[in-house]
Amino acid sequence: MSTIAAHLDDVLSRISRATADAGRPAGSVRLLAVSKTFGADAVREAVAAGQRAFGENYVQEALDKIAATADARVDGEPLEWHFIGPLQSNKTRPVAEHFDWVHSVDRLKIAERLSAQRPADLPPLQICLQVNISGEASKSGVTPDEVPAVARAIAALPNLTLRGLMAIPEPEDDPSRQREPFKAVRELFDTLRADGLALDTLSMGMSGDLEAAVAEGATMVRIGTAIFGARDYGSRA
Ligand SMILES: *Cc1c(COP(=O)(O)O)cnc(C)c1O
Repeated sequence: MSTIAAHLDDVLSRISRATADAGRPAGSVRLLAVSKTFGADAVREAVAAGQRAFGENYVQEALDKIAATADARVDGEPLEWHFIGPLQSNKTRPVAEHFDWVHSVDRLKIAERLSAQRPADLPPLQICLQVNISGEASKSGVTPDEVPAVARAIAALPNLTLRGLMAIPEPEDDPSRQREPFKAVRELFDTLRADGLALDTLSMGMSGDLEAAVAEGATMVRIGTAIFGARDYGSRA
């Protein structure tokens, strides 16, 4: 077994255990493998181990990788690409054209551009609204107060399907303190659903806190380091 295959196995076990511990149905949490800074070879190793959904942060790096793995299939299906990084308005077009999901929509203008630029022959782009849950001015995301109005406006756009919320809490090593921000995101999600938005995705949890995120209802965890190893930003092309 390759290192990546073995790491994927470990991560899938962590997810299963956390799902069972939370009393949630098996299979209710999807794994997004975050392949940023790693090459197409690493993606292919993960694909060979059965992984289909990949997350990327940098547009040009991602486009190269998507092209280099266009022939890859898992159960006969092409790979599914999720954009999860900060998105500037001058970069929305290639994202609308080449990705299946965007988790990092942090203002209405970005969603409007993605909707206008989504090619007519592709299915709607799947969207998560990013919430700034730690309340720092330096962090991207809509503040919790603004979420209901922005979510409603995005849900009304053509060519997009609003699936849910995404959050990246401040890193916290103490497991007993990791759950609180995830809980706040989940409560916001529950409120939106109670208000009639048909949402099914809570994108939260990374290598260091996936158990806490799953305990609070994450339906998709975004895992990089625990699958591919430590990232070397210096070598990024
Ligand atoms: C890099 C990244 C991840 C993966 O983080 P790890 O700690 O390596 O698992 C998840 N989500 C986002 C938005 C990221 O940028």
